[in-house]
Amino acid sequence: MLSYRHAFHAGNHADVLKHLIEIAVLDYLGQKDKPYWYIDTHAGAGGYALHEGYAAKNAEYLSGIARLWDRTDLPPAVAAYVDVVREMNPDGELRFYPGSPWCAAAVMPQSDKLRLFELHPTDFQLLEQNFGGQPRRTQLQQANGFEGIKAILPPPPRRGLVLIDPPYEDKRDYQHVVTALKEGLKRFATGIYAVWYPCLQRAEMKELPKELKKLPAKSWLRAELHVQAPSADGFGMYGSGMFLLNPPWTLPATLKEVLPYLVEQLGQDAKASFILETGGDL
Ligand code: SAM
Repeated sequence: MLSYRHAFHAGNHADVLKHLIEIAVLDYLGQKDKPYWYIDTHAGAGGYALHEGYAAKNAEYLSGIARLWDRTDLPPAVAAYVDVVREMNPDGELRFYPGSPWCAAAVMPQSDKLRLFELHPTDFQLLEQNFGGQPRRTQLQQANGFEGIKAILPPPPRRGLVLIDPPYEDKRDYQHVVTALKEGLKRFATGIYAVWYPCLQRAEMKELPKELKKLPAKSWLRAELHVQAPSADGFGMYGSGMFLLNPPWTLPATLKEVLPYLVEQLGQDAKASFILETGGDL
């Protein structure tokens, strides 16, 4: 089942949370003068035009990145993320939005490598248009990212971030995430893993953070941004979360500053809130 197209959601509140954390982790990895890899199991198209096609349909970016675009009081980690989006929009008008591979490529040193998986033929073609011209730095595979990472972990420099960002349209994605992380930790125990998930009133979603906390990583962090109250009818996404294994030790302090700010700027009703939890030796 491959009906999900990320362009519909480009730049929404969930992308803000995900990409901001991705950039904060990569900035941390880049502080040491040692190479690392960025591995993206569900890469999407790489970049999105906001005023055209699917992205323009629901214009979800208006309740996400657009609300941060003109702010002058951004906390440093939010500013670092908005700067990446600005690089894509040098004339100052918000027209393009970077996907997770673009965010990575923008902040990583040129010598560090990207490994990107995307299954959808159209999005893979777009990903190739965006990144196909950098074969030394970036390798693309039109393949199942859950399976594909097994062959490339551990990355040769033994440092890296693995982003796992499936559509969850297929309920089995919840189990696939847990299995991929178990396999990943066996091969690359010290890797940083980041999983995005939607906040839904669905049993699988409620179980996911509980399952992730049981994984044999040294430490974990759970960050959720709820932009509204869960709806009375039980449907719809009221926010999203990022669960990290072996996160940078600096990330909890960063998010303590960032999450209340995002609640203020991206909250859609009085019930907007956040969760920040850590465990293990963090
Ligand atoms: N990570 C992207 C970003 O932040 O810009 C967005 C990714 S989107 C949420 C999920 C993507 O995974 C879709 O483009 C979909 O086509 C792709 N996909 C679905 N199942 C997949 C699988 N098993 N392996 C690789 N890609 C898959």
